[in-house]
Amino acid sequence: MFTILMLSGEDVRALLAMDACIDAIEACLRALAQDAAVQPLRSVLRLPGSAGVLGLMPAVLEQPPVAGAKLITVFGDNAARGLDSHQGTVQLFAIDDGRPLAILDAASITAIRTAAASAVATRALARQDADCLAILGTGVQAASHLDAICAVRPIRTVRVWGKTPEHAERFASEHTARTGLEVEARPTARAAVEDAAVVCTVTAAREPVLAGAWLAPGCHINAVGACTPQARELDAAAVARARVFTDRRQSAECEAGDLILARRDGAIGDDHLRGELADVLLDRPEGRTTAHDITLFESLGIGIFDLAAGHLVYRRARAAGRGITVTF
Ligand code: NDP
Repeated sequence: MFTILMLSGEDVRALLAMDACIDAIEACLRALAQDAAVQPLRSVLRLPGSAGVLGLMPAVLEQPPVAGAKLITVFGDNAARGLDSHQGTVQLFAIDDGRPLAILDAASITAIRTAAASAVATRALARQDADCLAILGTGVQAASHLDAICAVRPIRTVRVWGKTPEHAERFASEHTARTGLEVEARPTARAAVEDAAVVCTVTAAREPVLAGAWLAPGCHINAVGACTPQARELDAAAVARARVFTDRRQSAECEAGDLILARRDGAIGDDHLRGELADVLLDRPEGRTTAHDITLFESLGIGIFDLAAGHLVYRRARAAGRGITVTF
């Protein structure tokens, strides 16, 4: 018999502040760099009769001591059904005796931990004085990236572009009112990114929405949306112009359409990917070398992020007496 703590999306959002999540993600990346984590490639199963996939993302962390997995479906067209594009659970286990500890809502963890990982990359790679942020995309990740990047750089102006102009307008007015920042909808992706010091691509696009020719010298890009070998948000020139880092080399080689398709086009060679973000945190290899470098964090999303964020929520929920306990 064991008891397990069930934590909803509302619980996760109440307990997982962006600042704390950024620190938890940085800590788990440092653990990964020091071989204190197990991070295999995820399994992604196509679901017959739909455009959806089921992803299984197992991992182990020594500190905090936790094993587990995220089990999540991704249906890019779910907005039309009034559902989240990402739905599932994160399950945590104790590593000393194998006890199941908690089951948490995965959509809310994914929303926050993905943006927190981009914030860690931005803190490591963007110019210190970066004050203009461009966001391509207007969905869940667009909103969480706005908060995450503002937590690590002195952002004063935000420009957003969306495939559907009304969504960009709505995003701009909602987030101007919520944050007090100047969030402005731009009519084209080019108009959004020109002069931006940090660019986040957070779309479900399969063809490039960001061209290398538009990038200002010195900018940092977080490329988040293209997590399959066939999808890309960046054209080959954007990848070729950048010093490229990723969360996990194996994931990048197997899943990152931005990189795989740029290499197929002959724009980059096999050694263009310089390393993992975890290693940049330890200065091996060097991240940004000059104020003019263009840096790129190619984000695939890895299981240790879900464990680190999930365990933080679990600890806080236990302390606050929050959630529902179920005995099996
Ligand atoms: P949402 O469904 O909330 O938002 C999707 C966004 O993509 C909307 O702004 C939508 O615009 C836009 N979009 C859809 N199709 C296109 C297109 N062809 N061209 C340009 N824009 C398009 O998704 P999320 O915000 O949760 O996720 C965004 C992306 O990030 C997804 O691809 C998702 O799989 C990926 N992701 C990556 C993670 C990682 O760890 N790297 C983790 C989580 C998500 P409109 O509303 O106008 O249709």
